[in-house]
Amino acid sequence: MVRYLTELSLDAFVDAAENVPYQQINSDLFPNVNLWVRRDDLIDPIISGNKAYKLIYNLLEARKLGKDTIATCGGAWSNHIHATAAAGQRFGFRTIGIIRGERPPALSSMLQDAERFGMELLFVSRRQYRERESQGFLGAIGLPPSAYFIPEGGANYQGALGSHLLADIVRRTQPFEFAEYWLACGTAVSVGGLRAKLSKKASVIGVPILKAEAQVEINAKKWCERLGGKSGVLEIIRGGHAGGYAKQPWDLWQKIRLLEKCTEIALDGVYTGKLFSAMQEEYAQSRGEKVNGKSILILHTGGLQGRRGALYK
Ligand SMILES: *Cc1c(COP(=O)(O)O)cnc(C)c1O
Repeated sequence: MVRYLTELSLDAFVDAAENVPYQQINSDLFPNVNLWVRRDDLIDPIISGNKAYKLIYNLLEARKLGKDTIATCGGAWSNHIHATAAAGQRFGFRTIGIIRGERPPALSSMLQDAERFGMELLFVSRRQYRERESQGFLGAIGLPPSAYFIPEGGANYQGALGSHLLADIVRRTQPFEFAEYWLACGTAVSVGGLRAKLSKKASVIGVPILKAEAQVEINAKKWCERLGGKSGVLEIIRGGHAGGYAKQPWDLWQKIRLLEKCTEIALDGVYTGKLFSAMQEEYAQSRGEKVNGKSILILHTGGLQGRRGALYK
């Protein structure tokens, strides 16, 4: 059954998150491990995956402050813009999406959705966009400075609290404690929050989907510390980006098609496809020889709307 987030409250959100299914993978693509996937792509078909977690405390905060407008920023295929636009429509906020670059003659499917959900799109120059983290950014681009501002990717303290909540819920609902928890990372808010809250006996392993892996590692540690993180292994995989952010070469999609067939789970080319592919390769090569039956949980962080942007699928 398809479930939707229909009410803006922490209780309703926790209830939805506690009902996210875990699925065991039975495939000889993963011969040496006991592999499970937590399907946060199913928490809501539109306010999907980890973006829902990064939004929840931001939306509650906006409501508490009596804000009727939420402004945020991103690129033409941003899952965060998509989720924020849908959440604005669902819960009654005016939303403004600040998009880098000129308005293209044809909007991406994501931006078409965002407009349909009622988001106003404001295209700003690359120079203006670079100032997005500075004080007074909204005023400088002509927006009401009183709007509730969420940084790109939902990467603020409220966003990080959401990843903390995800870890809490994983601990309560998982079928058993896993040895390793794998997820895709961009801003590293999610991986940092999970590391802060999951058992310190477990390893948390992030696959950066962009080239700046050293920076992702620094950010992951920073978010983990900001959330009062404990010790425990935090590993950042190198070389899983398939050429860089949003690069989706033909051979990546060859691999994704195989993974989708064997797992019967839909993946996207920007995040989850790279994650599953990197994890599978790690175990098919060096890691796999040393283990037998190690338990692994992959967090499916959603993002399937982005599939429409892929050339080769
Ligand atoms: C945004 C996103 C991520 C990355 O999350 P961060 O908290 O920015 O590291 C991973 N997977 C999907 C599907 C996403 O949309």
